[in-house]
Amino acid sequence: MALIIQKYGGTSVGNIDRVRSVARRVIQSAARGNRVVAVVSAMAGETNRLIDLGKTVSKNSEGREFDVLLATGEQVTTALLALAIEDQGRKAVSFLGHQVQITTTGSFSRARIESVNAERTRKALDDGYIVVVAGFQGATREGSITTLGRGGSDITAVALGVALKADRVEFYKDVDGIFTADPAVCPDARLLPRVAYEEMLEMSYLGAKVLHPRCVELARRNGLPLVVRSSLNFNPGTVVVPEEDLMEYAAVAGIVCDKNQVKVSLTGIPDKPGILAGIFTAVAEADINIDMIVEDVSSASGGTSVSFTCGSADLAAAEKVAKKLTAAFPGGAWGVKAGLNKLSIVGAGMRLHSGVASRMFTALAREGVGVYMVNTSDIKVSCLIEAKYAELAVRTLHEVFELSKAPAKKAAKAGKGPRRSI
Ligand code: ASP
Ligand code: MG
Repeated sequence: MALIIQKYGGTSVGNIDRVRSVARRVIQSAARGNRVVAVVSAMAGETNRLIDLGKTVSKNSEGREFDVLLATGEQVTTALLALAIEDQGRKAVSFLGHQVQITTTGSFSRARIESVNAERTRKALDDGYIVVVAGFQGATREGSITTLGRGGSDITAVALGVALKADRVEFYKDVDGIFTADPAVCPDARLLPRVAYEEMLEMSYLGAKVLHPRCVELARRNGLPLVVRSSLNFNPGTVVVPEEDLMEYAAVAGIVCDKNQVKVSLTGIPDKPGILAGIFTAVAEADINIDMIVEDVSSASGGTSVSFTCGSADLAAAEKVAKKLTAAFPGGAWGVKAGLNKLSIVGAGMRLHSGVASRMFTALAREGVGVYMVNTSDIKVSCLIEAKYAELAVRTLHEVFELSKAPAKKAAKAGKGPRRSI
C-alpha cells in the first residue's frame, strides 16, 4: 500500500465542479488501496483577491495580519474538498497548517518550514481517513499563522511527503507535465516522461512556472519522487527522478524563457577591491532581486563596468540605485535596457556533450538574434535576448537540438563521463 501526497493547485480547485472532480480522483486513488493526503491551494485568483482586499484597509501588503488573511484562501478549499469527499461516501478530515504542526520561521509572507510533525496525519490515515491539508501555511512556535510565499503549497506538499516518508508526491496541474518547451509557443514541444531533479530545479529557477524551486530542492535532498500530471485527464505525466535514473540522454532536455528581464549597466567604476561589495550592498538594501552579474576588466580609461539583471518589477528601484551609485564616481554613468527575456537551455546531458553553447549561439546568430549577456552552469546555458525575438528563438533552438524527437536511450550512466566544456 503506497502513501501518496496529491497536490492540487488553484486551477484544479477553481470552482465547485472541479472540487467535486478532485474528490472523485482522491477517492479513486484511495480505493486502489493507497493512503492519500491531498494538499490544496486556494481557488485560482483567490490569493490575489485577498491581497487586494487587505490593501484596501492597509498601506502594508505584508506582515502578521496579512498572513492571517491570506491563509483563509486555503482554509476554504481544504474544508470544501473534505466535505466533497465525505459527500461521495469516504471518511475525510481537513487540517490547517498549525494543526499538522508545520512550524515555520517568523518571516511573514515568506516563512520557511522548520519542522513538520507527521503524527496527527499518520494517525488519521491509520484510522482510514483521507487527509486534506491546507497548503501555503504554517505557524511559528509562538502560534502566529504564517504563509510560505507565492506558490508555497508545493512546498507544503513535499515537506509533508518527507515527514510522512511518502512513496511519492503527485502534482495535479492544468498541463500534462513538463514539456521540452512551452507548447503554446512551440507546437512541436514534447512531453518529457522523466526529468532529473537538477534539470527540474534549473527549469524552475529559470522561469518554468510548473513547480516551486524550493520544493524540488527539498525532494532532491530527500530522494522523494515527484510526479507532474494533469488533473483533467489520466495521462501519466512527468516523473522527476535522480539523474542516474534518466532513461533518455540528450544534451538538452528543455528550453525555458523567463520574461520581463531588465539589464542595468554601470560604467566608469573605479577598479578597486571593495567597490563591488559596495554596489551590491546598495542593491540588496534596495530589496532588488538580482540574477546575472557581469564585471568587465578595466577599460583603457581605467574604470571598470558592471552589469546585472533583475526582474522588471524592480526597474524603478534599480534605476534609483544606479543613479545614486554612479553619481559618487567621477566619470560614472549608467544605462538600463528593459524588455529582455532570459532564454535558457537545460540538460543534465550537457555534462557529457561539448559544443552546446556554440550550437546555441550559431543558431541565434543565423536568425539575427542579438545576445546581451550569457550565464552558464554545468547543466544550463542562459542568454539575455530582446523579448520580440523570444518565441522565434525558442522554436529555433527546439529544432536545432531536435527536441521533438525522443533521444536515444542512454548508453552510459549520467555523470560518469568526461566533464564537458560548453
Ligand atoms: N495560494 C497561494 C498562491 O496563490 C499558494 C499556492 O497556490 O501555492 O500563491
Ligand atoms: Mg502553484
